Amino acid sequence: EAKATGKNTFSVYKEEMGKHLSARLQMEKHLRNAINQDELYLVYQPKINLFSGQVIGVEALLRWRNPKLGLVPPNVFIRIAEESRMIIPISEWVIENTIRQLQAWQGTEYQNLSIAVNISSNQFSHEDFIHDLARQLDGANLPRRLLEVELTESTVMTNADENIKRLQLLRHKGFDLAVDDFGTGYSSLSYLKRFPLTILKIDKSFIDGVPNDDEDMSISQAIVQLAHSLDIKVVAEGIETHAQLEFLQELGCEFGQGYFISRPLEIADLNKWLQQHGKNFYQSETYLDYLAD
Ligand code: C2E
Ligand code: MG
Ligand code: MG
Ligand code: MG
Repeated sequence: EAKATGKNTFSVYKEEMGKHLSARLQMEKHLRNAINQDELYLVYQPKINLFSGQVIGVEALLRWRNPKLGLVPPNVFIRIAEESRMIIPISEWVIENTIRQLQAWQGTEYQNLSIAVNISSNQFSHEDFIHDLARQLDGANLPRRLLEVELTESTVMTNADENIKRLQLLRHKGFDLAVDDFGTGYSSLSYLKRFPLTILKIDKSFIDGVPNDDEDMSISQAIVQLAHSLDIKVVAEGIETHAQLEFLQELGCEFGQGYFISRPLEIADLNKWLQQHGKNFYQSETYLDYLAD
């Protein structure tokens, strides 16, 4: 009896494993064609100065829409791309398209907007990454500060000693450097002091707790104070409510992004959004109407 159950459980398990594996292989196969088939695109989420309301830039976020699979979340396909080395051509595609967008803004009133790009750890540890990036911006006649590099806390903390040199080179070449999802990893404070960062991004999970969760609010406050004591500026991600925006302002958090300000937008919608809010988010009709209600 027990043996039979065991065998059944195992064959069910094997079947589930098979399904899981083939779904994954399917996805991997489709992903291999995503660039050629024009299935990738970028959306851009505006970022503002929380004190002045000035729109300072956007974060580029990758999207993959496949006819069979639909819209696959980046948290799913980026991991597969990383495990299968496809992350290199995909990342190149992201950077090329980001540079093209920066170029499109040159000579317009939006030419000072920066674009933050998420760089995966495989990409970052690639030997030529930093030199290639510098060469690409120079080749496009763009100031390097317009492309901001976002690395997650776990990327910079893995091989932290080695990474310090690479981070220094990146900064030396004139790039801004943000640590993403800060607070979710295991940063040692002594490393934080040695990393040449320009920006810490407080993870959305802490912002979610504002204004009801005292611990999340204390953590947010601690992150802002820590960053400022090291001369690093702070971006809060995932601001969904006005109460969260006000709380962060009071903490002295310089920058913010989130659905309350804008969702990530396809380029045509971003250009419309910029026309309506680009001068100053706090003086936009959307925001003033919100306050009036
Ligand atoms: P991330 O860099 O931390 O990006 C923030 C995520 O939060 C984005 O999810 C964004 O759409 C979402 N978000 C922003 N504001 C709000 C808000 O107010 N509420 C809620 N609920 N969500 C908000 P997304 O676009 O699904 O990206 C997830 C992650 O995938 C990113 O996290 C980043 O780690 C990774 N990713 C996205 N694009 C790229 C890329 O081009 N390259 C690499 N290597 N990773 C990428
Ligand atoms: Mg990011
Ligand atoms: Mg983040
Ligand atoms: Mg995140």
